Amino acid sequence: MKDTLKHQGLRNQLVKIISEKGITNKSVLNAIAKVPRHLFMDSSFADFAYQDKAFPIAAEQTISQPYTVAFQTEVLQVEPGHKVLEIGTGSGYQTAVLIEVGAKVYTIERQQELFKKTKLFLPKLGYKPKKMVFGDGYIGLPEEAPFDSIIVTAGAPFVPKPLLAQLKIGGRLVIPVGDEVQTMNLFVRTSEIDFEKQELGKFKFVPMLKERN
Ligand code: SAH
Repeated sequence: MKDTLKHQGLRNQLVKIISEKGITNKSVLNAIAKVPRHLFMDSSFADFAYQDKAFPIAAEQTISQPYTVAFQTEVLQVEPGHKVLEIGTGSGYQTAVLIEVGAKVYTIERQQELFKKTKLFLPKLGYKPKKMVFGDGYIGLPEEAPFDSIIVTAGAPFVPKPLLAQLKIGGRLVIPVGDEVQTMNLFVRTSEIDFEKQELGKFKFVPMLKERN
C-alpha cells in the first residue's frame, strides 16, 4: 500500500477537474486531495483511480465517482464533530472523505463481503469510523440517532421514513431517488414534523437493495 508524490500530483489534477465542475467547499476539495483513492480500488483499476469515474469493487458494487462523492459531501455542509450516518459503506472511500472533513461517521453496509473487507481496511489507513454496521440502510441506526446529516450512496426507489425520522432539527438527508437514473434529493428538517425538499440534478448509482446479503 503505497502513496507517492505521483499519486498526490494526480489527486491535485482531480481536484482541479471537480472544482471546474462546480465544487467550491475548500474542506471538501482538501479531502479529495488527501484520500488515496487508488488504495480503495482493485489493483487492476488502480491506474485509473484519479479519473473522475466510478469503478467496480467487490460484490458487483462500485466506488462512486469522485465528483459525486464531493457533491454529496458538499451538500451535507459538515462541520467538525458532526454526527453523520452513511448508507452504503462500499469501498469506504466516501467514509474516508467524510472523516477528512471532520465528521464522526456511522456507516451501514448490506453486503457481508464488502462490510468485512472495508472494516479491516479503513483503520489501516488511519480512518476510524465511530461505528461500522452490517445491516440494512432502510432502517437506519435508531440507537445512535439523531444525526446532523445522513448520506445515502445507493439509488433508492423511495425515501425511507426512518432516515427522515433520525435527523436532528436542522439536519440534512441527501439521497439519490429513482430506478435507472436518480434525482439527488436534499431534505432539511425544519421542525419536528416539517421537511424542506430540494432536487439537485441527475446522477447514476447502483441500487439500494433490501435487507442484508
Ligand atoms: N460509498 C461507497 C459507494 C458504494 S456503492 C463508496 O464510496 O465506495 C453503494 C453501496 O451501497 C454498495 O456497497 C451496496 O452494497 C450498498 N447498499 C445497497 N443497498 C444497501 C442497504 N439497503 N443498506 C446498506 N447498504 C446498501
